[in-house]
Amino acid sequence: MSEKYTGMRDDRRYEGESVDVTYNTKRCIHAAYCANRLPEVFDPKKRPWANPDGASVEKVVATIELCPSGALHYDRKDGVQEISVGENTIRIQQNGYLEIRGDLAI
Ligand code: SF4
Repeated sequence: MSEKYTGMRDDRRYEGESVDVTYNTKRCIHAAYCANRLPEVFDPKKRPWANPDGASVEKVVATIELCPSGALHYDRKDGVQEISVGENTIRIQQNGYLEIRGDLAI
């Protein structure tokens, strides 16, 4: 497990066996979805804080897809391709953030 700078100033990359995780420090709103949902992978008290091998690829991907800021991304290395045909959604979070997902322009 390692943390690498990607060349983009605010991006970090965490390489795993089956999936790599990238994290943009500037985009993160610290909503803690990742750490609360999958602490075996995302633990802010550890260095590096992300361990892509800490859970199944499916769990890592599912958690990253819930990141409300788009700070987290993944690159699967197991050959699985996914096509998402989701709906547009807006969720109002307890702290007042609006979580907007979908194919839309604002
Ligand atoms: S879920 Fe996304 S926005 Fe929330 S703490 Fe994790 S990386 Fe940051």
